[in-house]
Amino acid sequence: INDLSDASAPPPERKKRIGILTSGGDSSGMNAAVRSITRVALQKGCIPYAIYEGYQGLVDGGQYIKELGWEDVRGLLSVGGTSIGTARCSDFRQREGRVRGAYNLISNGIDALVVIGGDGSLTGADMLRAEWSGLVDELIATKKVTAEECEHLREDLTIVGLVGSIDNDMAMTDITIGAVTSLHRICEAVDNLTSTALSHQRAFVIEVMGRHCGWLGLMAGIAVGADWVFLPERPPPLNETKYGDDWETEMCDIVKKYRALGNRKTLVIVCEGAIDRNLKPIKSDYVQKVLTDRLHLDTRVTCLGHVQRGGTACAYDRFLATVQGVEAVEAVLRSKPGVPAPMIGNSHNKMTCTPLMEAVKLTHAVAEAIAQKDFGRAMEMRDPEFTALYDAFLHSTIYTFEKNEFKVAPGSPAGEDGGLRVGIIHTGAPAGGMNAATRIAARLCLNRGHVPIGIRNGFSGLIKDEVFPFEWQHTVGWQVRGGSELGTNRDHPQPLPGGPKIAPKGDGGFVDLGLVAYHLQKHNIQALLIIGGFEAYTAQLTMTHARSTFPAFCIPMVMLPATVSNNVPGTDYSVGSDTALNVIVEACDRIKLSANASRNRVFVVEVQGGSCGYLATLGGLTTGATTVYIPEEGINISTLQEDIQLLCRRYTDEIRRGIPNEGRVILRSEMASSTYTTEVISKILRAEGKGLFDSRTAVLGHLQQGGVPSPLDRIRATRLAVNCITWLETAARESRAAANHTLPSIYTTRDAHSCTIGIVGAEIVFTPVVESYKDADVKTRRETKPAWWRPFTHLIKVLSKYEYRDDEF
Ligand code: ATP
Repeated sequence: INDLSDASAPPPERKKRIGILTSGGDSSGMNAAVRSITRVALQKGCIPYAIYEGYQGLVDGGQYIKELGWEDVRGLLSVGGTSIGTARCSDFRQREGRVRGAYNLISNGIDALVVIGGDGSLTGADMLRAEWSGLVDELIATKKVTAEECEHLREDLTIVGLVGSIDNDMAMTDITIGAVTSLHRICEAVDNLTSTALSHQRAFVIEVMGRHCGWLGLMAGIAVGADWVFLPERPPPLNETKYGDDWETEMCDIVKKYRALGNRKTLVIVCEGAIDRNLKPIKSDYVQKVLTDRLHLDTRVTCLGHVQRGGTACAYDRFLATVQGVEAVEAVLRSKPGVPAPMIGNSHNKMTCTPLMEAVKLTHAVAEAIAQKDFGRAMEMRDPEFTALYDAFLHSTIYTFEKNEFKVAPGSPAGEDGGLRVGIIHTGAPAGGMNAATRIAARLCLNRGHVPIGIRNGFSGLIKDEVFPFEWQHTVGWQVRGGSELGTNRDHPQPLPGGPKIAPKGDGGFVDLGLVAYHLQKHNIQALLIIGGFEAYTAQLTMTHARSTFPAFCIPMVMLPATVSNNVPGTDYSVGSDTALNVIVEACDRIKLSANASRNRVFVVEVQGGSCGYLATLGGLTTGATTVYIPEEGINISTLQEDIQLLCRRYTDEIRRGIPNEGRVILRSEMASSTYTTEVISKILRAEGKGLFDSRTAVLGHLQQGGVPSPLDRIRATRLAVNCITWLETAARESRAAANHTLPSIYTTRDAHSCTIGIVGAEIVFTPVVESYKDADVKTRRETKPAWWRPFTHLIKVLSKYEYRDDEF
C-alpha cells in the first residue's frame, strides 16, 4: 500500500496489461476485488481488462475481453455477485479450450491474469500457466500468432489467484471472499425463522451450503444458537462410546434435554455435505423424520440454497476483497518467470502470498481425509480457530452439561461443588455482541460447575445489590439481541488518589470505590468478567490499582472489549465494531443512491468512534468514500482546500467527458475536529462547489450501536467469552495456590491476574491492564501507538482520487 504513493513515478515502458476474471460460483465481494484491482492497476500505470463470463469469455474472446477504465468500476462495491459474470466452463477443462484462451490473451496483449474463484478456478489457472510455453509454441507453429506478438509472453504468463468462495474451504487462508456475507444471509434467514419456531414451538432443520467444509454450518450454529450442527469434517455421534453409530439417539437426547429446560424451539443446521461416520450422507429430510417420529416435534425443513450466495457484500468482504485486490496487483508487478503462481490469502489478519497449487493440494487433502474417515486429520487441517470454535459451540449447548472437576478448595466458601462465583457486568455504551458474550460466559460457567452471577446496570447496579445467579434459561435468545440485556451505563468506580486520572464521560458519574468493593465481597464474587469499552478498561484499571486498599479487588479480573469504537488497548477488534461498520455500510449505500440521484451531491456522513478513527476509516474503505476525516489526523484548512480542489476537478472532468456526475460521500469521525464540524464542512463544500456540486449532511448517531449484532460480532463474542472463562479458572487456580488460611479462598495481587482479552492477528492475547496502560491515553481514550488500520486512510484516497492525465482525454 505504501508503494502506491509513488504513483507519480514514470510508468513502465510497456504498460502491463492485466486480465481480471471471476470464475466458478459467484461470491459477494468479487466486485470489490475487481474494483480495487482495476483502480490500483490504473494508478500503477497498467491497463486492466475485464474477461467476462469467467473462462468461457477467455475461450471465446472477442467481445468478452474489454479494457476497463476508472469509471467502469464505479459503484461496484455495493453490488452483489460479480458484474463481469462467471461461468462453469467445460471447454477450458480441455487443452483445446486453453489453446484458444492463450490465443485470446496474446491477441489482446494481456500478460498477466488475476483469477478470482474457488479451488477449481485456481487449478484451471495453474494449468494454463504450466502449459503456457507449449500453448504458445503451438499457436506459433499453427501460425495463429507470430513470434513477435508473443515475445514478451514467451516465457511465462503471470497468474495471481484470489479466493472467492462462500464455503471458506480453501486451505492456507483463514477466510475467503464471500464467506462472511453468506453467513450474514444465513443468520438473517434463521433469525427470521426463529420467531415462527418460537411461536409454534417448532423444530427447524436448516440446510446450508458446504460440500466439504463445515465453516458456514458451524459459524451459523454459533451465531444463531443452534441446538445441533451436522458438519462434513466432524460426523456424529460426538460421544462414540455412549452412542456407537447411533447419532439419531444422541441428537434426540440433546434436543430432549433442551426442551425439558423449557425451550420452545429447536434449530438444527445441516451442511449440504454432512455425513455420518460411515460416510453416509445426512440429509435434512431424514433429520426431520427423526425429530418428528421420535420426539413428535412439528418439524420443518428450510433449504436456504442460493439465497446464501447473493446480495450486497457485508463490510468484512468489501474490506477483504479491496485489500487483497491491491495485493494482487503488487503480486503481478513483482512476479518473475519460473516462480510458482501465488494465491493471495489471509492469515492472522495479515495478507499472505502462498504458492497457489500448494493451497489447492492441501484443500483436496481435507476432502481425501474425510473420504478415508480420518476425521481427526480433517479437523486438524482446518485452521486452529475452526476447532476452537467448534469447542466453543459445544460449550454453548448442553452437550457438556455435566459439572467438571474444577474445585476451588474443600469446604471453601465458593459455589456449589467448589465452583467459582463469577461476576458478569456490563459497563459503558451498549455494543452488538455484549449479550452473546454474556450468554456463552454464563452457560460455560454452568457447564463447568461455577455460579455465574449477573450484575445488572453496571457498577451503580452493583452497589444497589442488583445481582442474581444466572440460570441456563435466562440467556435464551441473547446471542441475537442487540443492546445490553444486563443493562449498562457509564457510571465509573471513582479512582483513589494516585490512581488513573479518569473523568466520567457523558451521563456517567462516579460510584464510590469502597462501596463497589463492599458489594463484590458481600456477594462473594471470586472472579470478575467485565464486558464493555474504554470505561470497562479504566474501571478495571481503577480496581486493580486499589487492590492494596480493598482486598475484594484481589480476584482474577478479565475485561472483554465490547465497543463500537474499537479503541480498547490490547486488541485489534472489539465486539460491536463489526455491527457498527455494517450499519455504516448499509447507511452509506443508501445515502450514495440519494447522492447519485441528485448527480452532484456530496454527503458528509458523521460516524461514531470517539477519538478513534477506526469506524470512519474502515467505513470509508468499504463504502468507497472520497476521503475520511479522523481524529488521529485532524482537519485543517489545507486538507479541506485540497479535497475541495479534487472534488471540483472530478466534477469538471465528468462534465467534460460527458459521463454522469457521481454522488459522493465523505466520512467524518464525530471527534475529528471541534472547529470543522460536519455542518461546517458541508457548508464550506456547498459554498466552494459554486453550483458544480452541492452538499448535505447525515449523522448516523446511535444507529451504529446496531440492532441485531452481526454474525462476526456474535462469533467473536463467543470465542472471547469462552477464553475469558477458561482464563479466569486458570487465574483462580493460581490464586488459590497462593492463598493461605488467613485470606479468602481466591486471593491475588498479581498484575497478570487482571487482564484484557484481545484478538491480535488471529491470536487470542491476554494483556495485563497495568501493562497496556503504558500505551493508553485515557484522555483521548485510545492507544498511543498507531493502530493496524491506519494505512488504509491512504488507500481510500488512492481508490478515489485518481488524477486523469491530459493524454487520456
Ligand atoms: P466454487 O467453490 O464456487 O465451486 P470453483 O472455482 O471451485 O468455485 P469449479 O466449477 O470447480 O468452481 O471451477 C470453475 C471453473 O474452473 C470450471 O468450470 C473450469 O472452467 C475451470 N476448472 C476447474 N478445474 C479445472 C481443471 N482441473 N482444469 C482446467 N480448468 C478447470
